[in-house]
Amino acid sequence: MSRKFLIAGNWKMNGLIAEGQALAKEIATATKALKPNAEVLVCPPFTLLTTVKKALRGSKVMLGAQDCHVEEKGAHTGDISPVMLKDAGCDYVILGHSERRSDHRESSLLVKTKAESALKAGLKVIICIGETLDERKAGKALEVTEKQIKASVPSSSTASNTVIAYEPVWAIGTGQTATPEDAEEVHAHVRKVLAEKLGKGVASRMRILYGGSMKPANAAELLAKEDIDGGLIGGASLKSADFVSIVRSAK
Ligand code: PEP
Repeated sequence: MSRKFLIAGNWKMNGLIAEGQALAKEIATATKALKPNAEVLVCPPFTLLTTVKKALRGSKVMLGAQDCHVEEKGAHTGDISPVMLKDAGCDYVILGHSERRSDHRESSLLVKTKAESALKAGLKVIICIGETLDERKAGKALEVTEKQIKASVPSSSTASNTVIAYEPVWAIGTGQTATPEDAEEVHAHVRKVLAEKLGKGVASRMRILYGGSMKPANAAELLAKEDIDGGLIGGASLKSADFVSIVRSAK
């Protein structure tokens, strides 16, 4: 089953306007020259969406946000709705990142509800899942990720509107990466669970990204695995040379 790679940069809470503009321009220029074998997406903080959108003009690099509220509008101070993200030119929104699940106590049920709203607004969603170090040590990685998939992914998800990101929490921002074999074991299991939930056809076409200290040095061997269809990249997405090098690894 051929699935187009997706290489997505999660800039997290980084970047002032001049930096974000420069980084987006560098990525746009470099990937244009490359004709990559992957779709490329950058997800800057809310304050940079408009700037980055302009900087990406004329390139195929897509724009995403890092979270959204469930509601379309209203009295929710500090929040941003999926309709607003669509209006700002976003193609994607990341939902259920482990930092949202821990910093803001987001449950899988909330992630699913946000995903339903985002899909309704015409956004594509990247739904993040992943086990903690204690859960992995206890041999529960498959059990935990299965539960998260069942509870976080809406039944309206299709292969064209939803992407899953498997991000072991212990690998995010730590420099520790899952071995390609360990990552593949979870990815294959996630695909099996998706098949039970959404049907075999959808599951075989849905992209499952790996995230957790992916960098130029380890990207190629991770992306070579059967069920790893791209990467969600934090730290290494803030340096255009590293990010573009990962894009180049998708073959
Ligand atoms: C992330 O935050 O999605 C991530 C994978 O971060 P890092 O690449 O820095 O581990």
